[in-house]
Amino acid sequence: MNVHDSERMGALLEQRGFTLSDSYEDSGLIIINTCSVREKPEEKVSFMLQHIGGLKRKNPKLIVAVTGCVAQQKGENIINDFPFVDMVIGPDGIDKLLDNIDKVRGCKAQISDTEFLEDISYSSTLMTRAAVSKAHAYVTAMKGCNNYCSYCIVPYVRGPERSRTILEIKNDVENMVNNGVSSVMLLGQNIARFGLENHEHLPLLLRTIGKIKGIKRLTFMTSHPRDFSDDIITCFEEIEALVPMLHLPAQHGSNKILKAMNRGYTREDYLEIINKLKATSFWNDLAITTDMIVGFPGEEEQDFEDLISLLEEVRYDNSYSFIYSPRPGTKAYKDYGSKINKELREIYVKRHMKYHDLQNEIAFEKNKNLIGKVVEILVEGPSVKDPNKLSGRTVGGKVVNFERSQKQTVETGNYVMVNITKAHPTHLKGELFND
Ligand code: SAH
Ligand code: SF4
Repeated sequence: MNVHDSERMGALLEQRGFTLSDSYEDSGLIIINTCSVREKPEEKVSFMLQHIGGLKRKNPKLIVAVTGCVAQQKGENIINDFPFVDMVIGPDGIDKLLDNIDKVRGCKAQISDTEFLEDISYSSTLMTRAAVSKAHAYVTAMKGCNNYCSYCIVPYVRGPERSRTILEIKNDVENMVNNGVSSVMLLGQNIARFGLENHEHLPLLLRTIGKIKGIKRLTFMTSHPRDFSDDIITCFEEIEALVPMLHLPAQHGSNKILKAMNRGYTREDYLEIINKLKATSFWNDLAITTDMIVGFPGEEEQDFEDLISLLEEVRYDNSYSFIYSPRPGTKAYKDYGSKINKELREIYVKRHMKYHDLQNEIAFEKNKNLIGKVVEILVEGPSVKDPNKLSGRTVGGKVVNFERSQKQTVETGNYVMVNITKAHPTHLKGELFND
């Protein structure tokens, strides 16, 4: 979601004639788009602002903006702490970015815009640079969250749950397809509850978008297990464009911890969904991923064993696992405080490592099963580690790196067939098929 917000801001600025700069020093406008889901990224913002303060002294015309969740959470306090900051804009203020730049340009006014909008419809499709070049676009289906998981700051910084209408999303995607997009990821903090206030729902959205001619890959993220319906499973079987990829965050494997997290389901409820998925024809192709939190207050050895056994039972393709980070304003912060004692922290770090290593082993084994298979990938551009190679993603979102071809022209945004030759825990290597 944050990546998408950054891309949207980039697209708005490009429309106005701004160009991307390679360094802070050469920039006339610096935007720090922030995340406050854990403490670390939040600390990074203060660190970056200290550096940028020095640049502003040298170049008083420089405009400095802080956007996103830290901006929402801290509001004007950011301006109090860093008086050179011109704009503090929450996640709902992104579409007003250009107006706000006009207001602060050349004058001393400072803006703090942290209002949540009731109406989240967008006036027009905004083709981001990434969407145009990669043929892949993120599309916001809904904003905010009403769940209040006890550890999570999102409902406070992204506001209440609000959905766009299917008609508006459909028009948006059709415009994107006309501009070369063929892969779409629909976004929402809990997309399984999409559209309820408009008497619409996720399966209807998936069926509508899946029918748009030119959509080759359709995915959605993130589904809350409590709201995940059988009809969504049917959609995978029915809709050709809906690729076998599902992010279904469990967060934990112990009922005691799930209850304290206020997740609204038990381990057994979660496994019931997994068993339904295992009974489908697409299970073997399904790339299933999760988010997990290790070290939630009160997690004992037995709870951690339950977490490990859930991982072993589901065998995720990937886990985004984190050590619990106390977030001001949340229920867990009020109940358990802002600090975790050093001894416990060391235990949690070890547990996290154990989880991480086991997940890597499982991912490695699953990736090895792909060796010798020919798969279709959507090319994303040069590989991050070795720019001489190209990189793309399978339908399940797995990264595949491969050598450039002497014979075929392969460009970012193309679909190509690749023979998988080597597996790693985090990515695959391949060769262009029939090269
Ligand atoms: N809406 C999504 C998650 C959004 S936040 C969902 O419900 O799955 C992304 C992930 O950050 C969460 O899934 C959770 O695993 C992690 N997270 C959120 N708050 C956290 C905290 N206080 N400490 C550690 N991880 C956290
Ligand atoms: Fe946070 Fe829970 Fe909402 Fe996800 S569902 S954003 S974890 S409160």
